[in-house]
Amino acid sequence: MTRKHKTNDADAVYFVPLGGSGEIGMNLNLYGYGPEEDREWIIVDCGVTFGDLSTPGIDIIMPDIRFIEERAHQLKAIVLTHAHEDHMGAVAHLWRRLRCPIYATPFTAYLMRDRLAEHGLLGEAALHEIGMSSRFNIGPFDLQLVTLTHSIPEPNGLIIRTPAGLILHTGDWKIDPDPVIGASTDIKALEAVGDEGVMAMVCDSTNVFTPGEAGSEAGVRDNLVKLVGEQKGKVAIAAFASNVARLDTAIHAAEANGRRVCLVGRSMHRITGAAKSVGMLAQYQDFIDEEEAAYFPADKILYLCTGSQGEPRAALSRIAEGAHRNVTLGQGDCVIFSSRIIPGNERGIFELMNRLAGRGVSLITERDRHIHVSGHPCRDELAQMYAWARPNVAIPVHGELRHLKEHAAYAKTLGVPHALEPFNGAVIRITREGAAIVDEAPAGRLYVDGKFIISDGHEAMRERRKLSVAGHITVAAILRDGALQNGLDLRAMGVPDRADYDLDALLDDLADAAEAAFKRMGKRERRDEAAVEEVLRQAVRREAARIWGKKPAVDAIVMAG
Ligand SMILES: [Zn+2]
Ligand SMILES: [Zn+2]
Repeated sequence: MTRKHKTNDADAVYFVPLGGSGEIGMNLNLYGYGPEEDREWIIVDCGVTFGDLSTPGIDIIMPDIRFIEERAHQLKAIVLTHAHEDHMGAVAHLWRRLRCPIYATPFTAYLMRDRLAEHGLLGEAALHEIGMSSRFNIGPFDLQLVTLTHSIPEPNGLIIRTPAGLILHTGDWKIDPDPVIGASTDIKALEAVGDEGVMAMVCDSTNVFTPGEAGSEAGVRDNLVKLVGEQKGKVAIAAFASNVARLDTAIHAAEANGRRVCLVGRSMHRITGAAKSVGMLAQYQDFIDEEEAAYFPADKILYLCTGSQGEPRAALSRIAEGAHRNVTLGQGDCVIFSSRIIPGNERGIFELMNRLAGRGVSLITERDRHIHVSGHPCRDELAQMYAWARPNVAIPVHGELRHLKEHAAYAKTLGVPHALEPFNGAVIRITREGAAIVDEAPAGRLYVDGKFIISDGHEAMRERRKLSVAGHITVAAILRDGALQNGLDLRAMGVPDRADYDLDALLDDLADAAEAAFKRMGKRERRDEAAVEEVLRQAVRREAARIWGKKPAVDAIVMAG
């Protein structure tokens, strides 16, 4: 921390988001209590977000945890609210830097254990399974889970009691009176916590712009049963594997229409395994494997597929390309997208839909029929939550800046006395009087790059972006007694040519320009390999810009001969 502030901290709780405040994804929230030198911390959720065209080669992005890494000895635990990737996906990647116990409810713990095993951490990381609605102590924190509803089993809010006061961290939630799987929102606990007095509520902002309510999973069920009943050919339902209630609904819709279910995609198998481990999906017939399903009559099978977001490696994309080993779809068949388009994924999804349409497959989305509901609270649900919890301060998280601002303003209209918009790295001091940003912690992003973890500012990323727009040229030379031996050797990657001007001609012209630049060097300078490299590099770059109109990355290698 750079600036000094009040150290009389017995009556304050510190909240530091390192991810998820100013973006939807990679949630990581820190809560601290105690005097600065000995402040004890817990991490609530530790998630990932996903790369895009601006991060070539990077699929997984995580919060920069420098701030808490430097205080790892003061870190007591990681507590997970639920098993979505944006809440737990980074734990296994970052655990070696933090080395603290992990707390999760059974379904989340099952999936966490899988991840720890993948990273060879099973024996090392202590994973504590906690019951739904349980209350437990970690350091100065008296923690209690509150059962909520969301789009995955076992979503928990977290009541954080400290000697300074109480904070309600909602995690992701909606209010579903009939969630199909799991209990509905624990209204009693929320009202009780409101009566007890909530200093601050740190709350989901995802759907703050959407009026009304998200709607119940039970409504989706009725529609999906009807829709599947209308189909004569094969049916594939694309949904998020983690949405077990939706999988349950899809399986129910299949069986109600005399179809057996075949899972397609690795995460479908992984999640249904986790669901069955906690007693879900037990009432249904066994799944049919892909090979066997291929022999079923078209109107007797329903495929449950991953890939609703157009992910190129997922099951549905491979089916659309006709590249799936066991599953084919064509004329008369139907794909039901029981999901929404996540902003940023439009292109991939539309490409996928066009491919399927090209095969004669009919497509049904949430625009055509009511076959999806969101897992996040819309405005009426937010109002309801504020009425139950009655916090003194609203701290919106899980949103882009526009969501956070709208949520803060909305909370005030609901009568919340104070609202504060956090950002990743904000050090927020919360007392019974209110809350203020008192400092700024380092924050940023970490990229999973193969087996390495690098920071978003890493030179490699800058170079990679550059290479992707203007290619690369290498110029090699042997230098002896201040003279180039056998001229220059140039190689190019990602550099185009033209019908009337091929790549060899371009490289020859670049070589000529580089040699001319070399000849303009002073006699003594020409003996300096490093100086020659720099002159050749710049000359090639300049000439490429002149001829081609773009500046490629150029490497010069000069060896003594
Ligand atoms: Zn989330
Ligand atoms: Zn979630």
